[in-house]
Amino acid sequence: MADAMINIENVTYEYSSIGEDSHLIAVKDINISVKKGEYLVVLGHNGSGKSTLAKLMNGLLLPTKGNVYVNNINTKDEEKIWNIRQTAGMVFQNPDNQIVATIVEEDVAFGPENQGIPPLEIRERVDKALEIVEMTEYKKHAPHLLSGGQKQRVAIAGILAMKPECIILDEPTAMLDPTGRKEIIKTIKKLNKEEEKTIVHITHFMDEAVEADRIMVMEQGEIVMEGRPREIFSQVEKIKELGLDVPQVTELAYELKKEGIKVPIDILTIEELVNAL
Ligand code: ADP
Ligand code: MG
Repeated sequence: MADAMINIENVTYEYSSIGEDSHLIAVKDINISVKKGEYLVVLGHNGSGKSTLAKLMNGLLLPTKGNVYVNNINTKDEEKIWNIRQTAGMVFQNPDNQIVATIVEEDVAFGPENQGIPPLEIRERVDKALEIVEMTEYKKHAPHLLSGGQKQRVAIAGILAMKPECIILDEPTAMLDPTGRKEIIKTIKKLNKEEEKTIVHITHFMDEAVEADRIMVMEQGEIVMEGRPREIFSQVEKIKELGLDVPQVTELAYELKKEGIKVPIDILTIEELVNAL
């Protein structure tokens, strides 16, 4: 597909522990295509295979069976692996593990430096990346003195400076306080809407998933639900069977409906519920 950023075709991934015969199938025969410019949220409880899938999406892991294409390049193509990692950048849970330098701007410059980008262009890219994540004023600061949300924004700037088309974020808010979470959600939305980046956002916070173009839910290595947020969250019982929550306001609408109060089942925001009532 020409407009696909990432194509996952019949992909299975099996972890095998050395010295043992045990094999663990973490991803089972998955097919999914992420469109260019799409904002996809991946949900699923611990161990459902989300991080494995994320790593398959930029060649950090290679499929045991099937193929993954990033911008039509197979991740098994060894000669193109740096191209793939540059196209699909990864942001992880813990910002402390992603920051390598002692000054913010040097940290953001690390990626493009390794790509052999000329110094003048690096400076431009760093400035632009810090501007996008709204961290320009902290350019000369020491990363370890920043808040969690600020550190994670620096980590995102470091990825942005490599000019990826797609950014994969694996539970980027899991270690942050509510303020930090809000900053990151705002940043992710901006990357998608203003910078036109394709986003794959793994999260276990349901309220974050409401903003997506599409949600996919994983369970034991398989995709068990897929659709627009409204389609997914109107299936309250199914979501609960999968051990997940729905957004608080959707839950409230669901309880009200059970009590016989006439409200639509697919409420996603407080405003929608207030209007319906
Ligand atoms: P999630 O991100 O949804 O929590 P993971 O992709 O991390 O799920 O894990 C999926 C399954 O693969 C789990 O059962 C997990 O224990 C297993 N797993 C993850 N990483 C490894 C590894 N390096 N070696 C062996 N098994 C692993
Ligand atoms: Mg994970």
